[in-house]
Amino acid sequence: SHAANEGKLWHAHEDAEAAIIEQRVSLMGELDEAIDAEQLRVVYQPKLRLETNRIESVEALLRWEHPTRGFMRPDLFIPLAEETNRIDRMTLFVLRRTITDMLEWCKGDVVVSAAVNISANLITSDRFVEAAERVLKEMRVPRDRLIFEVTESAAMLDPEAAARNLERFRALGVLISIDDYGTGQSTLSYLQRLPLKELKIDRAFVQNAHTNRSDGLMVRSTIDLAHSLGLRVVCEGIEEQACLDFLRENGCDYAQGYLIAKPMPPAELIELLEKADKVPANG
Ligand code: C2E
Ligand code: MG
Ligand code: MG
Ligand code: MG
Repeated sequence: SHAANEGKLWHAHEDAEAAIIEQRVSLMGELDEAIDAEQLRVVYQPKLRLETNRIESVEALLRWEHPTRGFMRPDLFIPLAEETNRIDRMTLFVLRRTITDMLEWCKGDVVVSAAVNISANLITSDRFVEAAERVLKEMRVPRDRLIFEVTESAAMLDPEAAARNLERFRALGVLISIDDYGTGQSTLSYLQRLPLKELKIDRAFVQNAHTNRSDGLMVRSTIDLAHSLGLRVVCEGIEEQACLDFLRENGCDYAQGYLIAKPMPPAELIELLEKADKVPANG
């Protein structure tokens, strides 16, 4: 009976695998449609600057408003887009959308930077870099207001190409940020070869920084080291006040997380920014 049960389990496992594959194949076909039929949305998550207690920056996060599956988060379709070479089109869409929104915010006298996530494999793609350069030149985004978030692995794939291409973006006034820092294999001294402005410490370390001694040490020493290298630090995934307090005490520059705000559509963001402008910031 044990063997029979195992057989059943195995079949259930096979069925689940088959369902996942089927879902991926149908999603793959729909990805092209998503771009063409304008089903992609960009939402923005505020980053609080701790020194001024103001929202001075946001991160652009992609959503897919799927006709039957509903609002889909990127973890469900970005990896697929990366594997099937659709990520370049998607990223150019996010880039254009974000710059368009930024230019709109500037008109309203709201000063805010915005970050766009760039997949690791795009950093070493000449075709993508050239296309992105064209967008940056055409759309004339204000210098030092646009941030590209790249993961450590981007730099590890082909360090020379990564450095060269990031320099090209830097020359066009884009700031470079290392995303999900701490989850990869690289060291800060290695990353130092890149034209970096910012380091984002991964949620995995940040979330327990105030309760777990070794996570707290990691976060604190990373902040100190980043500062000594002239980099600013963003901590992501802050859900508790005690965590924010810990980061404040340890000199973190920007805080991002559900405690501060969830990702939101541009109209909601504008309301939040305008409201924050009228109310004096407090503690
Ligand atoms: P990421 O760049 O590290 O973005 C942060 C993720 O953490 C976002 O998830 C955000 O909603 C979530 N988050 C923020 N604060 C909290 C918090 O306090 N608690 C928890 N549990 N989560 C929080 P999201 O939007 O689902 O995006 C997931 C990942 O998908 C992103 O991680 C990024 O790697 C990727 N992604 C999103 N948009 C794009 C895009 O336009 N292009 C590319 N290449 N990747 C993207
Ligand atoms: Mg990011
Ligand atoms: Mg991140
Ligand atoms: Mg992440």
